[in-house]
Amino acid sequence: MPSMLDAVVVGAGPNGLTAAVELARRGFSVAVFEAKDTIGGGARTQELTLPGFRHDPCSAVHPLGIGSPAFRAMPLDRYGLEWLHAPLPMAHPFDDGTAAVLSRSVAETAASFGPRDAGAYRRLVAPFAGRWDTLARDFMSLPLTALPRDPVTLARFGLAGLPPSTWLMRRFRDDRARALFAGLVAHVIAPLDGLATGAIGLVFALAAHANGWPLPRGGSQAVSDALAGLLRDHGGAIHTEYEVKRLDDLPPARAYVFDTSPTALARIAGLGGYYDGYRYGASVFKIDYALDGPVPWTAEEPRRAGTVQIGPGSRDIATALRGVSRGTAPEAPFLITAQPSVADPGRAPAGKHVFWAYGHVPNGWQGDLTDAIERQIERFAPGFRDLVLARATAGPPQLAAHNANYIGGDIACGAATGLQLLLRPRLTPFPYSTPHPAVFLCSSATPPGPGVHGMSGHNAAKAVWRHLRRTAR
Ligand SMILES: Cc1cc2nc3c(=O)[nH]c(=O)nc-3n(C[C@H](O)[C@H](O)[C@H](O)COP(=O)(O)OP(=O)(O)OC[C@H]3O[C@@H](n4cnc5c(N)ncnc54)[C@H](O)[C@@H]3O)c2cc1C
Repeated sequence: MPSMLDAVVVGAGPNGLTAAVELARRGFSVAVFEAKDTIGGGARTQELTLPGFRHDPCSAVHPLGIGSPAFRAMPLDRYGLEWLHAPLPMAHPFDDGTAAVLSRSVAETAASFGPRDAGAYRRLVAPFAGRWDTLARDFMSLPLTALPRDPVTLARFGLAGLPPSTWLMRRFRDDRARALFAGLVAHVIAPLDGLATGAIGLVFALAAHANGWPLPRGGSQAVSDALAGLLRDHGGAIHTEYEVKRLDDLPPARAYVFDTSPTALARIAGLGGYYDGYRYGASVFKIDYALDGPVPWTAEEPRRAGTVQIGPGSRDIATALRGVSRGTAPEAPFLITAQPSVADPGRAPAGKHVFWAYGHVPNGWQGDLTDAIERQIERFAPGFRDLVLARATAGPPQLAAHNANYIGGDIACGAATGLQLLLRPRLTPFPYSTPHPAVFLCSSATPPGPGVHGMSGHNAAKAVWRHLRRTAR
């Protein structure tokens, strides 16, 4: 290691690793320090239940990963990353035994909403057809990290997405489309009537039509391992089991880049109350299952889907989300479930399956949601419980222990509500900079927010290399 590094990155999550790669491939010397004994943060894979069952404790499905401008500019396939697609990206079953779907095909998706809403859906997504690459690059680079390449499409996206999702859902006459769309918004645990929540639903829908909602072969760890392989080939080093508590714990460097919560960064770098206004949000109660067979969904479509949303109506989803934001765990939780072995049978022994489900719970909640979650699954897949070989549960305390960024179990590293959905971690056009000129933040507490896409790391790296070039002169 040189006596003075160009950059030190704290945290080997997808954003920390992306920032490190972006700097290393531009010739800067970089070292990453990770608290845990494995890299990946929210993108890891572990045998949590039984031998041979490869679970993703956090992220599993990657609509924003395959569509990430940062990842697309890196040769991650050469480092083992292969995206696998289930026949359907997502399905949303109803009590009558039918399901709406989010398909790669706009026509199939629209048809699943029924004749009264098919046209409204086609009209909603038509202006963005074939424009994912520029649109994603433009909205994921806000604020101010790059000039928009297609300002007209970005403006149309803003007009449709900036109002609350409840406005956007008024385009639909039936609850099939509304429920599916409400479920999409709930992926970032945002209340449906919040500012810009329409954009969340729209992004997930457009991502499905552009690139699908794939899973990495072998699990999410493959994303982290590919980034790490690329980093090492550019001369970067990674140190695990190295929890950083003070800046003095780190070797001398010209820049320090934190893939941590703003709270931890303020504590470590001595920034006082700079991030005191930053709010953490709701958490989840998650169950990883080893199953003796595929989930016995009543409807046919969920059997072919990588992701299945469970929350029959838009009102049920809104009620569950509202309750959670007010501190009450839901009796009938809205669930996001993922069935990786539908796309990747190698994740479990022959004929067996891995499956995960989570429901939202208040920040710091200490109860057990297992029964409520399984009642919801049984409603749409009777006989599910009989297939369970083993389960691993994690509520807010376990999630926070797994990753210091999940404060109170907040898996988004900061509430996705109000202005903080768009402008995080503070109201500033320079979210990656801090009052310390050599200290930067790159975690999902910065735009564009949660998800395995590396774009917070990519945007932060731009601020870092400007600093490095300026201070080299
Ligand atoms: C249950 C769950 C399900 C999810 N599902 C999906 C999904 O399907 N698709 C998707 O795209 N996203 C999903 N996410 C979100 C996604 O995992 C995160 O948004 C993403 O991992 C954030 O990346 P990051 O690099 O900002 O932070 P993280 O991935 O949280 O990584 C931060 C890293 O920093 C380390 N660290 C923190 N403090 C220190 C310190 N002081 N010293 C050293 N190291 C430190 C941590 O150990 C960790 O490794 C899910 C998350 C959870 C928890």
